[in-house]
Amino acid sequence: MSTDNGAVDRRCAVCQRFFTPNPRLGDRQKLCGRKTCRQQYKNQWQRDEYVKNSRFRRNVFRRVRRWRWNHPGYSRRKGQSGSDPPVSAVLREVSESVLRLEFAVNGLASHTSGCRDREELRAVLARCVERGREVLLPVGAEEKVDRYGTRS
Ligand SMILES: [Zn+2]
Repeated sequence: MSTDNGAVDRRCAVCQRFFTPNPRLGDRQKLCGRKTCRQQYKNQWQRDEYVKNSRFRRNVFRRVRRWRWNHPGYSRRKGQSGSDPPVSAVLREVSESVLRLEFAVNGLASHTSGCRDREELRAVLARCVERGREVLLPVGAEEKVDRYGTRS
């Protein structure tokens, strides 16, 4: 469908206000252009991506971990919003529980194996991962694990 001036008013996907799309963007433009709408749309996109994309999740964990490493004094005291990490509160919550889980697994492995050395613990955990994979993905299972060179 073509129009005389190439643009038809459209509703913003976030605030529902009408806007005239930029002719250069055409059909791709879903938002009115307000900063709050762009931010909200991005947050929603991140949440959706977080749910369906495991690589995205891993990147979030890494980013948060790096951020914490670089901001050791950070705590969730009230009124300290200026130093929030660049991820939404939801993602932060999830990554915190994953971090706790990571500590718990490491602690458990250290406790049961009796090793306190970091490298040794890493080796123990690698064996645990291997073992768990064997339990959860018995020989003949469809899953590909060739990334670790153990099975193809
Ligand atoms: Zn809008």
